[in-house]
Amino acid sequence: MPVNQKDVQRLFLQAVFSRGVLSGKLAQTLWEKAKETVQAVDEELDIAESDWDTFVTEVNDSLNALDLEFRHVQDETTGRIMYAIANRKDDTIAQMAGDYAPVEISFFKAVVEQIMLAPRESYSISSLAALREVSALKPKSNMSKTQAEVVLSSFVAKGWLLKSKRGRYSLSARALLELSPYLKSTYPEEILECVICYEMMTKGVACPSPNCKVRMHFHCFTKYSARSRQCTTCKKDWPPNPESMTAVGEAALRDGEDGKRRVRRPVEDSDEEEDTGGDNDDDEPSQPSQPDRKSKSHQEANMDVDEDDDEEDSDTPVKRTRGSRKN
Ligand SMILES: [Zn+2]
Ligand SMILES: [Zn+2]
Repeated sequence: MPVNQKDVQRLFLQAVFSRGVLSGKLAQTLWEKAKETVQAVDEELDIAESDWDTFVTEVNDSLNALDLEFRHVQDETTGRIMYAIANRKDDTIAQMAGDYAPVEISFFKAVVEQIMLAPRESYSISSLAALREVSALKPKSNMSKTQAEVVLSSFVAKGWLLKSKRGRYSLSARALLELSPYLKSTYPEEILECVICYEMMTKGVACPSPNCKVRMHFHCFTKYSARSRQCTTCKKDWPPNPESMTAVGEAALRDGEDGKRRVRRPVEDSDEEEDTGGDNDDDEPSQPSQPDRKSKSHQEANMDVDEDDDEEDSDTPVKRTRGSRKN
């Protein structure tokens, strides 16, 4: 069977698809392997020498017609370069359908929603709160808490979610890479963008000035603070270490500070009560805007929803009340 240059790409893409998300280093190793494999079949074949960036461009030229993209982000926690094949336009979660049942995908979306709407830019949810999302699924599911625990571990194992030492779930590099159209179209008001790399961010630092909107990934902060110790926008002097900056991500929240669960839109046909705080006359009161920290926390109060009516499951271990400790 004759092989050609295109086979390198084909083998490479198969290997990438089967892995979902992979480090830049592994991606380059797979590229080398693909070249070796093709060369072994046809020693005469002249495989053009190109550099990695050129190869990535060629791969994307091929994927373009499918609205797919082989793209990378820097992992928000480790700063490592991670690659995945991402859909450029599809704002559903279709890519999970092969691995998960519809009810499991609904559960995933519900957990992601709590992560995206989490207070104080903490972009994380406690394990207990994540499990409790099962009882809020609409239509009602018969997924047990035990099944939900298994599915949650699978989301972590397959790289869709991260679970921290504190037991909090947050979005992984894979989720940010592959679900970016979904997240951007579903949570346009909640998306934060790093002022350095312009990628979406859910972990990093915020300028400590109360009204300043500057946000940066940890790795971008490290790079930037080597050049400057002043905010890019408000020019406030910054502390040298990221720990002294205002946190974005789970460090923004102490255990027990999660408050009540949030919903993006008021749910019709339910007894859920929305505390509108009295002064929000917007057509869409549950669409929080995020002009700054202060008004976000104001919006949080508006989004608090009494969901005790959904708490019929007898295996719900703890009723959540504002300010209660959960971990
Ligand atoms: Zn960045
Ligand atoms: Zn600033």
